[in-house]
Amino acid sequence: MMPMSNPPIYVTQPYLPPLEDFIPYLAQIWDRKILTNGGPLHQQLETALCEYLGVDHIALFANGTLALVTALQALRITGEVITTPYSFVATAHSLLWNGIKPVFVDIDRETLNLDPQKIEAAITPQTTAILPVHVYGNPCDVEAILGIADIYNLRVIYDAAHAFGVQCHCGSVMRHGDLSVLSFHATKVFNTFEGGAIVCPDAKTKQRIDYLKNFGFADEVTVVAPGINGKMSEINAAFGLLQLQHIDQALARRRDIDQIYRAELEGVPGIRCVGSIGQHIANHAYFPILVGPDYPLSRDALYQRLKDHNIYTRRYFYPLISDFPMYRGLPSAARSNLPVAVDISERVICLPIYPALTDDDIYRVISVINRAN
Ligand SMILES: *Cc1c(COP(=O)(O)O)cnc(C)c1O
Repeated sequence: MMPMSNPPIYVTQPYLPPLEDFIPYLAQIWDRKILTNGGPLHQQLETALCEYLGVDHIALFANGTLALVTALQALRITGEVITTPYSFVATAHSLLWNGIKPVFVDIDRETLNLDPQKIEAAITPQTTAILPVHVYGNPCDVEAILGIADIYNLRVIYDAAHAFGVQCHCGSVMRHGDLSVLSFHATKVFNTFEGGAIVCPDAKTKQRIDYLKNFGFADEVTVVAPGINGKMSEINAAFGLLQLQHIDQALARRRDIDQIYRAELEGVPGIRCVGSIGQHIANHAYFPILVGPDYPLSRDALYQRLKDHNIYTRRYFYPLISDFPMYRGLPSAARSNLPVAVDISERVICLPIYPALTDDDIYRVISVINRAN
């Protein structure tokens, strides 16, 4: 084993603009003494994000999970919802928080997103919606999913937590579905420390969502629904406004890192870089590789080897959501129902990718993968 002389490299690191640039925002908050409840910075960030992402309406949230829970409530989703086992656990948790039964459907081997060809067989009279995830920011087959939703009169809510800034042929990927939900958690491409948002198609839906995230208050004396407290604070909104000024630079660096990894790892036997599949502008939020039988080490042995070299990767998404105790009793959670997701989750490693990662860091990671024989 190598001595751990090199500094640690983590799978991600939040992007922090210069501290002095944040001070003027804080001064504004201190002067105004408006700390939350849809203050001016909150409104400014909603407007700025609509413009940046190319969408019509955005409702900001304290985090992505509350946004998911609220999105399901806004559309009054009940019964059963079809979703993917290959995601962060909050996707399915948002269903349980609404008393909805998740129905897991397997993923596509190339995109690692919900396989549209397997959705129809999972629809029952109780099915009311589909909750797909644009995993790693790779867009789902939005046309095929829309086609199925139209035939069976289902709503579609996209968990777009990984897809900030991703564009497909008709503009922002967030324009698809009845609603799209974003996360601005510290580990995401665009962060507000904690935060999230719902992208909605019309002003009326945004209004309902704005009520729901504020206890259901429609005005000072009227409560229209048992809403939650999901509001984003002024501090988080301020950080978002600052971060937005740096986002293009951050995305450009992510793209460069992606290209180096791809060029250096493409020829390594047994390693497959998960594509940027299809015609879309990617955000390089993650750099997943799949470790195959041709590689000299197992996935877990490579994970450990990297760790021994002070490189901390993550096995996203392992275990599958459907393997956690609150889900594994569901008939759709059976591993025989989800062969592709099971296979991928046992082979995946996400490599470090974030704007401050240096070229030296990247080559340290690559050389450990290369020297495994
Ligand atoms: C991060 C994430 C969430 C949850 O977002 P938070 O802001 O952390 O609550 C939901 N779904 C997916 C796919 C995520 O990656």
